[in-house]
Amino acid sequence: MAIIGSDIKEAIRFLMDGNLVGIPTETVYGLAGNALDDEVVLRIFEVKKRPAFDPLIVHIGTRKALFEFVPGIPQKAEKLAARFWPGPLTLILQKNRIIPDVVTSGLPTVAVRMPDHPMTLELLNSLSFPLAAPSANPFGYVSPTTAQHVAEQLGDRIPYILDGGDCDIGIESTIIGFEGDEPVIHRLGGKSVEEIEDLVGKVKVIRSSSSRPSGPGMMESHYAPGNKKVFLGHWEQYRSLLDPARTVLIRYHTPDPDFPRDRQAILSDKADLREAAKNLFTTLRRFDVPGISYIVAELLPEEGFGRAINDRLRRAASKD
Ligand code: AMP
Ligand code: MG
Repeated sequence: MAIIGSDIKEAIRFLMDGNLVGIPTETVYGLAGNALDDEVVLRIFEVKKRPAFDPLIVHIGTRKALFEFVPGIPQKAEKLAARFWPGPLTLILQKNRIIPDVVTSGLPTVAVRMPDHPMTLELLNSLSFPLAAPSANPFGYVSPTTAQHVAEQLGDRIPYILDGGDCDIGIESTIIGFEGDEPVIHRLGGKSVEEIEDLVGKVKVIRSSSSRPSGPGMMESHYAPGNKKVFLGHWEQYRSLLDPARTVLIRYHTPDPDFPRDRQAILSDKADLREAAKNLFTTLRRFDVPGISYIVAELLPEEGFGRAINDRLRRAASKD
C-alpha cells in the first residue's frame, strides 16, 4: 500500500528512482512520473488503464522551464502564462524532441502547465526533469481531490502519495491550444473563460465529442461515478421515471423541498460557483455507494466556474 505523507524529499527519491508518486495540485491530484523517461510514462498509462492515444500534461516548476521543451510560443500563450502561471491553465504548444512521443501520444504538440501548489512546486524545482501527471484516478472515473481518494483507487499500485491537503480548485485545468496565435479552449476548467477573454480577447471553445476524442477530458463519458446513471435537471422531471429510494440529488444552493434532505447534496449554500466546483467531485464520489442507482444533478448558471461544472455534469450524464 502507498504511504501517504508530506515528506517532499521522500517523494523526490521515489521519482528519481523511476517510480510514480501521487502529487497534490490546486486542480486535482496527479499521478506523476519523469516525463522524459519512456518507461516511466508507459507505466503511468498502465496504472491508470488509460488508452495510449490520450496525451498527458507535463508539469513544470517555473515559467522559464517551458522553453526547454518547446521551440517557441505564440504571443498570446506568453501573455497567458505570464498572467496565469502558476495556475489552473494548460497550454498546448509545439513540442521539441526532448519530450518523448509517448507523452503526447505521437502528437507534435505537448500540453504544459505550472501548477499552483507550494509542495508540488518545491518538488518540481528540486528535480532535473518535468513531471508527466494525469489525474490520479483510473481512466474514466471521477478525478481525486484528496490524498485519500488517490489511496483508495491507486494505493496498491504506487509507493507514495504526497499529501498536500484538499485541492483548492477541485476541478481540472482549462486547456488552451492555438490556431496560429489565436487561443482555442479545448477543455473548460479551473480558469474561467471570462478571465481568459479579459486578457486575450474573444476565444473559441471547442465542443467535446465522444466519437472523435482529442484526449480523455474530451470524451463525453469521462466524469461519471461508477455505474450510476446521472440525469440533468430537477427531481420533478424524473419523479415518474426513477425510484426515489435509489435516487440522490445534487443541487446548487437550495435543497428540493419535495425530496428527503439527507439524500441531497448542496454544492454551495451561499451560491458561490467556486465553492461549488470545489465540492463537485467529492459529492460524486460520496454518492458512488451501493443502493444508489440514480443521480439527478441540477445545472448551474453558465458563467465563470459554472461552465466547467456543467461541462463535467453533462459528460457524466452522457455515460451509457
Ligand atoms: P488529465 O491530465 O487526465 O486531465 O488529461 C489531460 C488532458 O490534456 C486530456 O484531456 C487531453 O485531451 C489534453 N491534452 C494533452 N496533450 C494534448 C495535446 N498535445 N493536444 C491536445 N490535447 C492534449
Ligand atoms: Mg483525468
